[in-house]
Amino acid sequence: MATGEVDAVVVGTGPGGEDAAGRLAAAGLDVVAVEARLVGGECPYYACIPTKMMVRAAGALAEARRVPELAGSAQARPHFRVVADRISSEATTGWDDRAAVQRLESAGCRVVRGRGRLTAPGEVTVDLAAGDQEVLRARRAIVLNPGTEPAVPPIDGLDGTPYWTNRDAVAAIAAPESVLVLGGGPVGLEFAQVFARFGSAVTLVEAGQRILAPSEPEASEVLTGVLRAEGIDVRTGAGVNRVSHGEAGFRVELDGGGPVEAERLLVATGRRTDLAALGVDAVGLDASARTIPVDERLRAADGVWAIGDVTGHGAFTHTSVYQSPIAVADILGQESAPADYRAVPAVTFTDPEVATVGHTEKSASQQGIRVRTGSTEIPSSPRGWIHKAGNAGLIKLVADADRGVLVGATVAAPSGGEVVGALAVAVHAEVPVVQLQRMIYGYPTFHRAISAALEDLG
Ligand SMILES: Cc1cc2nc3c(=O)[nH]c(=O)nc-3n(C[C@H](O)[C@H](O)[C@H](O)COP(=O)(O)OP(=O)(O)OC[C@H]3O[C@@H](n4cnc5c(N)ncnc54)[C@H](O)[C@@H]3O)c2cc1C
Repeated sequence: MATGEVDAVVVGTGPGGEDAAGRLAAAGLDVVAVEARLVGGECPYYACIPTKMMVRAAGALAEARRVPELAGSAQARPHFRVVADRISSEATTGWDDRAAVQRLESAGCRVVRGRGRLTAPGEVTVDLAAGDQEVLRARRAIVLNPGTEPAVPPIDGLDGTPYWTNRDAVAAIAAPESVLVLGGGPVGLEFAQVFARFGSAVTLVEAGQRILAPSEPEASEVLTGVLRAEGIDVRTGAGVNRVSHGEAGFRVELDGGGPVEAERLLVATGRRTDLAALGVDAVGLDASARTIPVDERLRAADGVWAIGDVTGHGAFTHTSVYQSPIAVADILGQESAPADYRAVPAVTFTDPEVATVGHTEKSASQQGIRVRTGSTEIPSSPRGWIHKAGNAGLIKLVADADRGVLVGATVAAPSGGEVVGALAVAVHAEVPVVQLQRMIYGYPTFHRAISAALEDLG
């Protein structure tokens, strides 16, 4: 067993960990990055990037199908292999992280392949991928960026079946004939629409009363309508009793409904962490918790910083890479603004995109804010009306009536993720609503609908 002392050990190289390791090494620290799977983490290999390539491809098909309503005729024959090849060659290089490892190494960082865990204050023990162990003592910092794993519910019969998670679905080389997607959150919804647009018969099963549950109910409703109109069988309030798998594929027995049969079963029921395996109790943290509490400098314990999904401040790449420089500045003893999560954008890349920032009406009320809301429908906005095919959506604003500022917004619209950018600025900078009402919004853009929602706000 090798033992060594370094300045900093980064455990897990998701987008934030990779960034932090590179920054610490560039600052002249002796850094080791420990990675159990692929340097770069979930986002480039199994999540954001490959799924958005799928969304882009499926969107092209959807646009082709809108041609008759707008421009004549077009024939689109889906061939999933085209996007599968793009994911393999352009996004993931065949799920090979050598380029990312080289980037870290050229920044002066040593990459150790294996699973790290805290074994004492300032100490990480790595079960090396090649066997054996290495003990790393960190003189200045340990940065934890372990991310999350797909959470698989304990459904009778599920274990041992060849179900998919996002990690399998992004590696698909063909769209299944039929797929049952379990979970109506962003991940399940994006895959459901992608596969449906590529010709799969899709059933989407959500145990809760609506899809995209934490979002504004109006946004869930719009999206449910769109998905159903595209032929997706959306079932809400539907628990799963039992799963079996045989030669014909999956058979899924639902509460209050007949069984559903499908070639594939995609489990997209959230994410989980395993803090016990990470050994966080060695530094006094609760190993049974789901997240690692951090302060505004991402400090988790003496000499330990945590960044990314595990901190519970939004499971997004942009949160992870936002936190990294703040943690690094703190480690290096440099000044930086503390972390501020009032305006974290979240985008579900369905069509329409459902983008949110800050509070919903409900979460703002729960915080004791005296809420005022304003909304507008995209189809009745000038751009929505021009757009016609595929124009479903709305903008809903949530204002703090006492302070006269926006505290949240939801945009369900074509390019909703872009439109929400303007509202993220408003929430982040606490721009007075009256200023927003006096602004000029380009005509006829989708974001111009913000002015109608502001008018509705009064
Ligand atoms: C299907 C899907 C689509 C998504 N789409 C988007 C999107 O469009 N936009 C967006 O912002 N976010 C998206 N996300 C979320 C995004 O992937 C994560 O928020 C992002 O990867 C940041 O995660 P992270 O930095 O916490 O670490 P992760 O990316 O999860 O990486 C953590 C790394 O740590 C490693 N690791 C874990 N434990 C150890 C250990 N003990 N020792 C060594 N290594 C370890 C893991 O192997 C992994 O490589 C999506 C997620 C999914 C599942």
